[in-house]
Amino acid sequence: MDPEELTPMLSQYYELCARYEDSLVLFQVGDFYETFCAAAETTARLCEITLTKREDSTGRYPMAGIPVDSAESYIETLLDAGYRVAVADQVEAPAEASGCVERAVTRVVTPGTLTEAALLRGADNNFVAALAVDDDTDGPLDGGREYGLALLDVSTGDFYATGLASLSAVADEAGRFVPSEVVVGPDIDDDAVAEAFPAEAMVTRYDSVAFDADVARERVGTYFADAGETLASDAELRACGALLAYAEYTRGGYHEDAGAVDDGAVDESGLDPAEVPAEPRLSYLNHLTRYDPREYMLLDAVAVRSLELFEPRHVHGAAGTALADVIDETACALGRRELTDWLRRPLLDTDRIAARQDAVGELVRDVRTRERLHERLADVYDIERLVARVSRGRANARDLRSLHETLAVVPDLRDVLVDAEGEPLQRLRERLDPVADVREAIDAAVAEDPPPELTEGGVIRKGYDERLDELRATEREGKRWIDELEASERERTGVDSLKVGHNQVHGYYIEVTDPNLDAVPDEYQRRQTLKNSERFVTPALKEREDEILRATERADDLEYELFRDLRDEVAAEAERIQALAAAVADLDALVALATVAAEHGYTRPTVGADRFAIEGGRHPVVERAEERFVPNGTDLDPGTIAVITGPNMSGKSTYMRQVALVCVLAQVGSFVPATAAQLPVVDRVFTRVGASDDIAGGRSTFMVEMTEVADILRAATPRSLVLLDEVGRGTSTADGFALARAVTEHLHDEVGATVLFATHHHDLTGLAADLPDAVNRHFPATERDGEVVFRHDLQPGAATASYGVEVADAAGVPESVVARAHELLARETADGAGQPDESAGDAGGSGRDGTASGGTAPAAGDPPASGGTDPAAVSVSGDGGHDVERLVAELDAVDLGNTTPLEALNRLSELKRLLDESE
Ligand code: ADP
Ligand code: MG
Repeated sequence: MDPEELTPMLSQYYELCARYEDSLVLFQVGDFYETFCAAAETTARLCEITLTKREDSTGRYPMAGIPVDSAESYIETLLDAGYRVAVADQVEAPAEASGCVERAVTRVVTPGTLTEAALLRGADNNFVAALAVDDDTDGPLDGGREYGLALLDVSTGDFYATGLASLSAVADEAGRFVPSEVVVGPDIDDDAVAEAFPAEAMVTRYDSVAFDADVARERVGTYFADAGETLASDAELRACGALLAYAEYTRGGYHEDAGAVDDGAVDESGLDPAEVPAEPRLSYLNHLTRYDPREYMLLDAVAVRSLELFEPRHVHGAAGTALADVIDETACALGRRELTDWLRRPLLDTDRIAARQDAVGELVRDVRTRERLHERLADVYDIERLVARVSRGRANARDLRSLHETLAVVPDLRDVLVDAEGEPLQRLRERLDPVADVREAIDAAVAEDPPPELTEGGVIRKGYDERLDELRATEREGKRWIDELEASERERTGVDSLKVGHNQVHGYYIEVTDPNLDAVPDEYQRRQTLKNSERFVTPALKEREDEILRATERADDLEYELFRDLRDEVAAEAERIQALAAAVADLDALVALATVAAEHGYTRPTVGADRFAIEGGRHPVVERAEERFVPNGTDLDPGTIAVITGPNMSGKSTYMRQVALVCVLAQVGSFVPATAAQLPVVDRVFTRVGASDDIAGGRSTFMVEMTEVADILRAATPRSLVLLDEVGRGTSTADGFALARAVTEHLHDEVGATVLFATHHHDLTGLAADLPDAVNRHFPATERDGEVVFRHDLQPGAATASYGVEVADAAGVPESVVARAHELLARETADGAGQPDESAGDAGGSGRDGTASGGTAPAAGDPPASGGTDPAAVSVSGDGGHDVERLVAELDAVDLGNTTPLEALNRLSELKRLLDESE
């Protein structure tokens, strides 16, 4: 379209579209946000609204509009469809416009920079990330690459930066923070983005100028004077700078507080990433946390997912619960986000862990204090987001009132904590600054129950401002005069039916019915003729009316002005309020941990011990779902490999995760679900779940499994805890076994990490014999009343194949066959190397397992596909002299989930051959 030929309004629209070319522009026209032409077609389709036609001097074109009042829900739809939305508001009153009303983009709504309460999902953080990379020339990683990662939640002001040496390390951090949007410059290509960030995150390619080191240094400097010292590299600096520039950009090019409303000049500087504003644009960003991932227990993306820390996976077809949910006894949004952050980054420093434990311990013991704190904390609003809104000039009177209510809670919290014994709680009490000046200022100014609008009065209290009170008095006085007018005019004219009324168009009037028109005095001026009456005004009435109007208008304006002054005053204290918010968040998180500990029987672990010694440990999530959860102990020296065997559904996966979750909780500073626990400090938790076991997670290739294993072999240390769950099942039995064994040996010999290895490969139980620091554990299956029962109690030694016979028995295999199987087993055992034993280096365990009896690694305890609990799934007729045990074992070994049709055919012919042979 030729801009010359467009109407002024459309050319304004296209100008904005060009400037915000990566966004869909919503263009305010009165009560609607309009879109035109192609954008209109998109909007109409996505938002399911009517596509209309607009006609002007230049022709007809499509148009689609969404109501300004309910814009948020449509914007949400557009975001979900992968769009960024630039909201262009009218920034001058149509009445004052000479020509086309001026419009400017006041915000760009993107998934990672949401601030609208209606669009933010719940209390959780919503991060936007920025990534920059440099060649590390002088750093420790000589010749390597150095990544700078910055993470910002614009709704709360939480801002983090860290440096990482590889994309997979970036992916680990991204796995903890789960950014919904990622900002990158040209130095990060699409492959790198895909490797480092979750696929759901929107990728925003942003101006390379913003990533320039000098521009970034200047911009970061306007926000955080000391950033030069805290940030460790140019890559970090560049990521932070670009992220700030992008956050400024999404605030739009127009800022009310820049004075644009008054002088009509639209401030565009926020659009140019090279132009750094002299004053921080996002003034509520007061704190940049630079952290080193090595200060925290590293939970990589795979571990976060498989331990279900934040998101439940849908294993066994049931919708689950995440660890974050079962420990979330927080009372307010601040605490919930804090607790999530603690869980995201468990500590390594035993002093810091002990400080949290001390506080939790005191709150566990002192029930009354805990409950009173919880009760008061429930009245705390999300003041982090509130302060951010205040600073952006988007808070209304209700927001300030909410801030006031929250500040009013603080003295109570301090009171409750006055008798706190331990130092951590005392210190916390000191951090609870009541910010009384702000509270009092709000209370003095803002009405108790103000309306959401700011420009229509009712916001400021009486007695706050003399000028305002006078104006309101004039207004009241005028209204009273009018109220009394009806009576006095009735008396004067003698017309009892005379009425004084008001309507939008004509204002105040005096109404006289037709039969009484004779009585109308001379100064009455006719305004309107109705069916049975006439309406009049008088000069005195008009004068009063004007007086009221003027007073009302000036009062409303004055209220808005007073409110904005107050809001600025509050914004100036943002840093103190944020510090208070941080203290409240800590307190709420600690109270929550104490509540969980008290209500679910957790105990205080010793962190920093020289072994993993857990008594009566439970899985914090599974125990809530199981009617009777069977506690299990753990006693392992660091560096031990524990090979855990047992049939499907016996509890292997649950147990391993339970050990890891106990370690995670302990390093969060929480108490743990156990009767007693001593734990070393774990630097990283790795979990790898064999491909066949992780279909729900959508990672089903053997390649992925091996990539993940390779990561562990490279990155694990003697202080790491590694969970390997059925690793090696993604390929043929022989391969898988060989790999699993080689991986385990490497972890044992070279790495020295503590490893829990759950497996069906009974051959692996032989590791205990070969490796000095390997032990066998198993989950037995027993049979009761014809049913195979899993007791879920961990036993020393390796699993035997005996439950396979029990399964056959339960399935109705004739008694004589079962008896014969038992007999054979007993003989094998007697021939074998002895009974299973828990001691390290014990060679037992393999003697009675399926390998010894079948010869082809049948892993007899793992009934195929049936889930192991459905006896009907195994049905073998025991007639004649067939080698039934052999057949059962062979069949049992078939892992249907991992069998190709060809393998199945081969297996079938093999079975057939066995049958023929034995006849
Ligand atoms: P495996 O990994 O051996 O196949 P899982 O760990 O997946 O077995 O456990 C199977 C099911 O058994 C779980 O979903 C859980 O409901 C139950 N379960 C596991 N451990 C216990 C336990 N200690 N006490 C009670 N039920 C348990
Ligand atoms: Mg399992």
